[in-house]
Formats: sequence, C-alpha cells, structure tokens
Amino acid sequence: MAFKIQAFEVTRKTYEYSKPFKISLGAHYESVNIEVKVVLDDGTYGLGEASPSFLISSETPSIVETGLKELCQSLVGKDVRNYRALFNETDTIFKAIPSAKAAVQYAIIDALTTSLGITPFEFFGGAKGSIFTDKTVGIGEIEDMVEEAKKIYSEGFRTIKIKVESIETGVESVEKIAEVTNNTGYIVDANQAFKAKEAIELANKLYIKGVNVLLLEQPVHRKDYDGLKLVRQSSPYPVAADESVFEKYDAFKLIQNGCVDYINIKLMKSGLSDALAIVEMAKSAGVGLMIGCMGESSLGITQSVDFAAGTGAFTYHDLDSSLMLKEDNPLKGFEREKNELRILGRDKRWN
Ligand code: MN
Repeated sequence: MAFKIQAFEVTRKTYEYSKPFKISLGAHYESVNIEVKVVLDDGTYGLGEASPSFLISSETPSIVETGLKELCQSLVGKDVRNYRALFNETDTIFKAIPSAKAAVQYAIIDALTTSLGITPFEFFGGAKGSIFTDKTVGIGEIEDMVEEAKKIYSEGFRTIKIKVESIETGVESVEKIAEVTNNTGYIVDANQAFKAKEAIELANKLYIKGVNVLLLEQPVHRKDYDGLKLVRQSSPYPVAADESVFEKYDAFKLIQNGCVDYINIKLMKSGLSDALAIVEMAKSAGVGLMIGCMGESSLGITQSVDFAAGTGAFTYHDLDSSLMLKEDNPLKGFEREKNELRILGRDKRWN
C-alpha cells in the first residue's frame, strides 16, 4: 500500500447543457469543469472535479485550472493518511477558489480509500446506501416550466426545485406546476432575487393556495442576514440559506443569529473540510440540511453522493446537474433509478 503523493494532473473539460439553464442571477449554457488526479507513489490514484460557478462564487475555469496546477505542488510528497493536515493546508491555499479545494480534498480521500480498499462513502460513515434527489426547473416561459415539471414528475422525481425571479411569475409558475404534479413538494429557489417583504408576499400567496413548499431557498441577498431572519420569522415555510454559506464561519453566524431553518451545503462552496464542520454544527444546533450542486458532471456529483449518503445528514438532496448535461462524464460512483441514487462499490468505479 502506498500513501505518498507523487504527482497531480489537472484537466479541463467542457460540458454543454441540454438546454440553457436560467436562474435569477443569469443563464448557463455550458459547464466548464476541472478534473484533478492525485497519483500516489505506487500509481494508485484518486480523482476529483471542480465545477466553478462565476455567478455564485466569482470563480472562473481559468483561475481554478491555473490555481490547481500551481498550488497543488506544495502537497507533493505528503501522506494522504494525514488527510486532516492536508485539509488544513488546502483550506488556506485554496481559500479564494473553493471549488478547487473541493476537488483536491475529494481526490485525496479517493486515493486514500482506494489504497485502503474502501470507498469515500464508507470513509464518510456509510450511513445510507442510497439517497433521493430532486430535479430542477429553470426560469422560462410559464408554459414551458409547467411542461418541464410534468416531465420531471413522470420520470419519478418526487421533489421538484423551481427557480423564481419575481413575485408575479414566481407565484404563477409554482402554483401551475403544483396543479399538474400532485402538489408533490417544492423547493422554491430565488437565488437572492427578493427583498424580505417581497419574499414573504410570495410565500403567503403560495401558502393561501395550499402549495406544498418544502423550502424557500435563498430568498434575499446573501449578505442580508436581517432579511433572511425576517423571512424566517414571517414566512409560513422553512427558509434555507445557499449563497449566504460558503465557509463554516458563515454557517455559524447564520445559526447564531437565528436566520435559518436549513442550510444548503455545496461541496463547491465549502470543500469537504468545511462541509464536515457545517454538518456537525447544524446537527448540534437543530438546523436542517440540504445538499446542492453547481454544474458537476457525474464525477463531481459522485463526491456529493458519497458525502451525503456517507454522513446520512441531509433531508433534501439537489444533485441533478449531471442530468442536465448533453453528454455526461462516464466516470461515476453511483447508479440512478428514477430519483434514487445508489452508491457503487470500489470494483465498479474508475480506480
Ligand atoms: Mn440555490
């Protein structure tokens, strides 16, 4: 068994979306992801994927690619069994590029667990053998959104995430979707589009119609903690923070100030190190958890499936980005049946 890091390989891959994916902050046409391979001294390797989102975290593929190529060098020669030391070091060197941190930290755990003959899922605790994901309807013409939601429901998804950008179209789209999808359960994501008052108005309008909204996600600007708290206190639905939480300290401040019912953890915002801290913090504080994604291919989604199923800590799973790509990455550590994502053993993975 080998544990010493010998080299890193960094590769950029571009994935086109099946159709443009629009949220209140802008539209995505493709996802440019960066793969990291960490090679140990006997050739054993681990993989990770960074999916930088400029709209969410101001990272560009070039910054992430260059950052990975240059900054990984300081990790060569180190022992992956000391993964906490490597997490601490990567927390510092990749502070400004969290998607790079996520990819490197997962690649390290993938290499370590490959050497040990287990999977990252088992390393994270092996809590659940499978998880259930939602699927997302982006912003568009209301008729198109309704058709898309119908299709998602007929494919077997039982939680539907809906992007909104205004009160009027938001209420209408969610209401109409609820009518044709058996009021199955919706995560309504505004990506910071509202003032607190507007978000409360939207929530009340949906509530009066009896729409089964499970979460109101990031209704206000990410720095508007008071607004988030006000929505939480006044809205009939639970409130989740997404863009407000990158590092563990963000989660601490929101929890301390009573701003949230749920936190949406994304590895691309927090890496594994801060995601692990936020999981324990939220559990301790009685705050709920959801896990989300950026534009990961199946390789990057594997990271979150391993983490979420391994810790078993999440109520809602929004791990659908690879389903939106025209051509997905063949590398994956899970298999999907309808909305269920099942963990694959080491023998069925890439290494
Ligand atoms: Mn979100």
